[in-house]
Amino acid sequence: MIAYQPANNRYESMKYNRCGNSGLLLPAISLGLWQNFGDVDTIANCKNIIRTAFDNGITHFDLANNYGPPPGSAETNFGKILNEDFKNHRDELIISSKAGYTMWDGPYGDWGSKKYLVASLHQSLKRMQLEYVDIFYHHRPDPNTPLEETMQALDSIVRQGKALYIGISNYPAEQAAAAFKILKQLGTPCLIHQPKYSMFERWVENGLLDTLEANGVGCIPFSPLAQGLLTDKYLKGIPADARAARNFFLKESDITQDKINKANQLNEIAKERNQSLAQMALAWILKDHRITTVLIGASKPEQVLNSIACLQNTSFSKEELSTINNILL
Ligand code: NDP
Repeated sequence: MIAYQPANNRYESMKYNRCGNSGLLLPAISLGLWQNFGDVDTIANCKNIIRTAFDNGITHFDLANNYGPPPGSAETNFGKILNEDFKNHRDELIISSKAGYTMWDGPYGDWGSKKYLVASLHQSLKRMQLEYVDIFYHHRPDPNTPLEETMQALDSIVRQGKALYIGISNYPAEQAAAAFKILKQLGTPCLIHQPKYSMFERWVENGLLDTLEANGVGCIPFSPLAQGLLTDKYLKGIPADARAARNFFLKESDITQDKINKANQLNEIAKERNQSLAQMALAWILKDHRITTVLIGASKPEQVLNSIACLQNTSFSKEELSTINNILL
């Protein structure tokens, strides 16, 4: 592959939004490496996806210790790509990682103890060949570790310079509010919350988004396309190269007739808006001022381009919103 030269006009069309009350701006579209960047995938395609994203203003790349498969391999592959293509661009990138799900055997490779979080971040930094990550997340709440211990671990990681900012993911509103309070007292305010949010999964509307706004915390919804269900790819069956064909994180049984019927109806509205269904689904999330950035996944560079083009129209008429709500009932 020829040496990579980022596009000179890469900052011209992307929109950058302030993350909560912080000083940090994030691109309206961010790219996650949960799927399609593991050792089971083709590194040339991974490279092309990342290059396409960066060339079009995506500065934020989201990882976690367990992304792959196998777990850890997405970080290792991303590290290689960074080293080969982005050595001179580290200061233009916001790179995140997380710990909170099962990563290694024994009592210290899961959940939310200080032992696990600190050790896991060390491993992530090694895999990505980085000195620090920009954002480090606790990936999911731990019912058995005191919230104070987990938050102290995050605070100490920032004080050691191993992460610049702290985030939490999958925390319900009440627990998130408790975490924000502790972090504020410790002097490391929470930057961002990463919840699952899409037209098909709207729990954040029942309190979490208000809590984030009240605390000046940004929001980066994951799986905004419901892993591909909110695109036109499943409207006529399951294509061989689609995530559901791998039948693991998205199962064939998740492609229900009810979801396909809804996607078909939504697709008609998208057409009237001159958008793809994927673009409308992303725009629908971005219409809310409490959302900082949507965290997309992609298996091909063209999907990144298609998704970014949602920014051309992120406003909805009252009629469109109520028709969409009726479809989603
Ligand atoms: P999406 O809902 O955006 O799904 C991505 C998939 O949708 C792609 O792999 C592709 O499917 C399809 N797709 C994407 N763009 C288009 C397009 N324009 N047109 C048609 N199809 C398209 O997000 P993910 O579920 O991948 O999650 C995104 C990120 O969120 C992850 O990488 C990760 O960083 C984060 N995440 C965080 C979690 C957490 O607990 N904090 C949990 C899960 C994800 P196909 O592969 O079939 O081509």
